[in-house]
Amino acid sequence: MKTRNIQLSLGFALASAALLTAGCQEQTTEREPESAAGNATQAIFQKGEKAPAENFTGTAWVTNLVAPDSIYTTATGSVVFEAGARTNWHSHPPGQLLLVTEGVGYHQIEGEHKQTIRKGDVVKCPPNVTHWHGATPDSSMTHIYIVPNTDEGIVNWKQPVTDEEFNRKN
Ligand code: MN
Repeated sequence: MKTRNIQLSLGFALASAALLTAGCQEQTTEREPESAAGNATQAIFQKGEKAPAENFTGTAWVTNLVAPDSIYTTATGSVVFEAGARTNWHSHPPGQLLLVTEGVGYHQIEGEHKQTIRKGDVVKCPPNVTHWHGATPDSSMTHIYIVPNTDEGIVNWKQPVTDEEFNRKN
């Protein structure tokens, strides 16, 4: 009984830490000091690894948060785009959700105007639609990405977003 409770608690704590569930009594992540927690620039997740230059322009950082497995067939992570940084054009066979957690950026679907996206915005990228996302020229932007149904694929990378495309006024 005791072992089972520990296992349940551990699983719950891990899931809760990953999801940043509010009010979780089993929260095991270390708390930042109040002074740091009150700092608006405090990052939620680690920056992770530098994003590969073949698929990104400028400086971006990617951290994997939930790798797909047989239960959670989703790819979930966080990307920090420094000002001016963006993905290449690309598509996701199952679609993608973007949850903006910091800063100001752009999202553009091929053939449509650029959208400005800000902290708190949620973007749905439809399946197999070519698009890109990134920071604005003057602001960094951080978003969580969620690709569902990864058995259909995760991402198909295409050409870079040119400076002309990036700076074009809608
Ligand atoms: Mn995308």
